[in-house]
Amino acid sequence: DLLVVGSANADLVIGVERRPDPGETVLGSDLAVHPGGKGANQAVAAARLGARTALLARVGDDAHGRLLLDSLRGAGVDTVGVLVGGAPTGVALITVDSGGDNAIVVSPGANGLLTPADARAATSLFHASRVVSAQLEIPLETVVDVVRALPPETRFVLNASPPRALPAEVLAACDPLIVNEHEARVLLGGSRVGEDPADWARILLAKGPRAVVVTLGARGALVASRDGVAHVPALDVTPVDTTGAGDAFTAALAWRLSRGEPLVEAAAYAARVGAATVTRRGAQASFPTARDVAAARS
Ligand code: ADP
Repeated sequence: DLLVVGSANADLVIGVERRPDPGETVLGSDLAVHPGGKGANQAVAAARLGARTALLARVGDDAHGRLLLDSLRGAGVDTVGVLVGGAPTGVALITVDSGGDNAIVVSPGANGLLTPADARAATSLFHASRVVSAQLEIPLETVVDVVRALPPETRFVLNASPPRALPAEVLAACDPLIVNEHEARVLLGGSRVGEDPADWARILLAKGPRAVVVTLGARGALVASRDGVAHVPALDVTPVDTTGAGDAFTAALAWRLSRGEPLVEAAAYAARVGAATVTRRGAQASFPTARDVAAARS
């Protein structure tokens, strides 16, 4: 039902009292290695909710690649589209300081080798999917070719993360374009916009997408389409760790759209999934099942 095209990374996390200055060495906590990357995270999040999900991605022929394949298969993601080799698996080197702030260096590795040809070669996956979703941790040319490879009935969902300027052809295919507040500001770039996210959503919509969703953390989300701008409220939860909220939201939205749900209803469900995600630690480890979502208080 759902094809996710995107990145797969190993997240290498070390806790530190404070970060070293140039030339300095500090000691940190034991190393934790977690499967991550927005593509793999969104595929796992969708599968955990019960979506039939495939991932088109590239990992290295190495231990990190095997860790990712194991986590994807463990969640029930179809991995025939996970290509292996050509470069080391992408890595995110993350230090978390005593204040809880992250500093991250990403080595894209094999993600950078997911090519337009790989997208074109995956036609059977495209034809098996009602919705294809992508993010921007893979080459932009590949995203362009994903859009060109879409069968006529297939809906395209883009989570523009990390944000960058998008060609008109990609924008026009987005149904919806999903951004958080930071990503919205970057995509709006030089435009003179105020502080009202509803205005951001309207201006982004005017750039060509069929619909736009702006996620607003604890304030829920906005859905902009030809019908106007609708606000989707957030669930009132006590956040423990907001990592993965955007990935869970996007995955849930794409899945519900693939079942034919209207956009605003799909976004309301996605907001429940995002809320359930922030009540647990970690990224993939924090994604809820459909049963967890149903149990979450409204
Ligand atoms: P990102 O993780 O990309 O920054 P957001 O922080 O906007 O994205 O979170 C995505 C969605 O997850 C929000 O639209 C909201 O529905 C839900 N969410 C995030 N943080 C909270 C929170 N503190 N309380 C309730 N829901 C939240």
